[in-house]
Amino acid sequence: MTTVPPTVPVIAYIALGTNLGDRQAHLDAAFTALSALPGTRLLARSSLYETAPLGPAGQQDYLNAAAKLETTLAPRALLDACLTIEQARGRIRAERWGPRTLDLDILLYGNTTSQDPHLTLPHPAMLNRAFVLAPLCDLAPELIIAGRTLAQHLALLNQTGIRRIPVA
Ligand code: AMP
Repeated sequence: MTTVPPTVPVIAYIALGTNLGDRQAHLDAAFTALSALPGTRLLARSSLYETAPLGPAGQQDYLNAAAKLETTLAPRALLDACLTIEQARGRIRAERWGPRTLDLDILLYGNTTSQDPHLTLPHPAMLNRAFVLAPLCDLAPELIIAGRTLAQHLALLNQTGIRRIPVA
């Protein structure tokens, strides 16, 4: 995975998720922090989606969203920035699939592909998760990944438990 910044800005998509504490405040803070990253513009943000949690029982529902960025940060620098934003919202890595104040994943970074476990691109689980694809489809429904548009990938998934929050 390159650490060299791109010479022209790259479009990147970030998935956001939270199910602990003030979920709306975590997402608002994350969007603000993403838009303030060096060399980065927040081009669009998705609707919010309330989604049933995977993993251990007894967790609160998630709020999920997606962001479209234009950035000159290199992929690893963008990942490090995402981890810093998570930590600023009090993210503690306890149990796998457990509740979290804020989770940020890089879904796509331009056309970059990477099998590096530290930063896998496109994000390896994005096509299997309706709670990721539903917000992403607000931003890029016609984007083709693995031979299908994102909207077609979403249509293949069970969307039970995914609820779009109407804009107030
Ligand atoms: P989690 O917070 O549980 O989603 O896992 C975060 C870890 O997954 C980080 O330490 C990253 O190094 C790794 N990772 C691999 N690919 C990605 C990606 N595309 N976006 C975010 N984290 C990734």
